[in-house]
Amino acid sequence: MDLFYRSTRNANETVTASQAILKGLADDGGLFVPSFIPKLNVSVEELSKMSYKEVAYAVMKEFLTDFTEDELKACINSAYDSKFDTEEIAPLVKAEGAYYLELFHGATIAFKDMALSILPYLMTTSAKKNDVKNEIVILTATSGDTGKAALAGFADVKGTKIVVFYPKGGVSPIQEKQMVTQKGDNTFVVGIKGNFDQAQSGVKSIFGDKELAKEMDEAGYQFSSANSINIGRLVPQIVYYVYAYAKLFANGEISKDEKINVVVPTGNFGNILAAYYAKNMGMPIDRLICASNDNKVLYDFFTTGTYDKNREFVLTMSPSMDILISSNLERLIYKIGGEDADKSAELMKKLNTEGKYDITDDMKKQLSDFYGNYGTEAETSEIINKIYKDTGYIIDTHTAVAAVVYEKYKKDTNDNTKSVIASTASPFKFTRNVMKSIDGKYENLEDFELVDELSRIGNVKIPNAIEEIRNAQIRHNTVCEVEDMTKTVKDFLGLK
Ligand SMILES: *Cc1c(COP(=O)(O)O)cnc(C)c1O
Repeated sequence: MDLFYRSTRNANETVTASQAILKGLADDGGLFVPSFIPKLNVSVEELSKMSYKEVAYAVMKEFLTDFTEDELKACINSAYDSKFDTEEIAPLVKAEGAYYLELFHGATIAFKDMALSILPYLMTTSAKKNDVKNEIVILTATSGDTGKAALAGFADVKGTKIVVFYPKGGVSPIQEKQMVTQKGDNTFVVGIKGNFDQAQSGVKSIFGDKELAKEMDEAGYQFSSANSINIGRLVPQIVYYVYAYAKLFANGEISKDEKINVVVPTGNFGNILAAYYAKNMGMPIDRLICASNDNKVLYDFFTTGTYDKNREFVLTMSPSMDILISSNLERLIYKIGGEDADKSAELMKKLNTEGKYDITDDMKKQLSDFYGNYGTEAETSEIINKIYKDTGYIIDTHTAVAAVVYEKYKKDTNDNTKSVIASTASPFKFTRNVMKSIDGKYENLEDFELVDELSRIGNVKIPNAIEEIRNAQIRHNTVCEVEDMTKTVKDFLGLK
């Protein structure tokens, strides 16, 4: 039986992979999930001889079952090219007893590039396959990194427009500058007077607006999503966990079938869910270590079985993880609930109305693959400092949260299984907090002075993504209230 997709909230709606990519979100508000998780029938020996692109094909073809070989290979070849500053695409760096999987070598220097450099190709291929004549309007809420990566991916892509909402004041200065300087006539960047969760909820409600969908269709438009709720984001993220395992084996760091742990700095639960899918495909991954910052809703969930977003939203130095509603958790809930759409629909309804839900003991038992913990702001700063002093390696604030949680995990469990830490952003993206952690004397330097100093003390070249914005012109300055998001989109599209 070929793999297809269905909604986490309705067992009856089934779609192909390309339809799921086009739609982004199911009509009932649920997320698309594969009808089963396919096994990867390629040996580690074989994988270890493959390039990133070859691994990408081996993994993605199992999920994107209605793409032809030519279609999928064309997408992969267009995505993982010289936009990345290393042919390895996702290099592993050994430091301080762990393997850092650097996922920030793409165009916008955060791990979002790993999926968003291929999503526009998957999307336009899907449109062609399904005879879509409408222009596709990508609607995206960002906690800082998705926005720029999606803008870079979709800028000037024919047949698409892209609108990005980010929390004004809730992203780093470099993140904001990267977005508001974006070129391309089909791009539109909007700051909202609210936080990421409000941006995400606003976008979800625009998706669910049937009236608007009708108006859009009449005007020759349809929405899709570049957020990690789109399976076109999730599937490409599985690839680098498989690739990392194969690389460790190729480099003689692990023996055949040796299990590894992965540590993931988590926000919307997309990246770690991809690791969970890699494990379920048959990769020898043992524990999935979920790292949160002070917005530790996931840590509380893993320890108590209650998901409760009723709490204060904290702005931290790892803004891309400042999230209280981790959308992709719905896919895990669906799986551990026995793939019962009614049950997950009910829990998500509770989340929507009461802001919390409890899972059953049976479901809780199935969470043993996961370990959750969190890093405070002080701990995050300390570990950036310590790793730099010990090794000269400079990590970003998000990766640092993972490093903190990895230390706590080892202390808690005495488990010394070799571990891969997902390094989700370049330190150049969060220069101020990274440099302040290394030395208080940097407090008074300007943003770009800090960039130069980071390059000097870390002995790393300043990424193009940063050089590009040094003197770039601001092109977007729209700011709107949360309530006006729909109107803002309509204005941009010229709808009444
Ligand atoms: C998006 C992001 C995260 C969180 O990833 P999720 O898939 O949302 O859990 C962590 N770190 C960085 C740098 C990010 O951009």
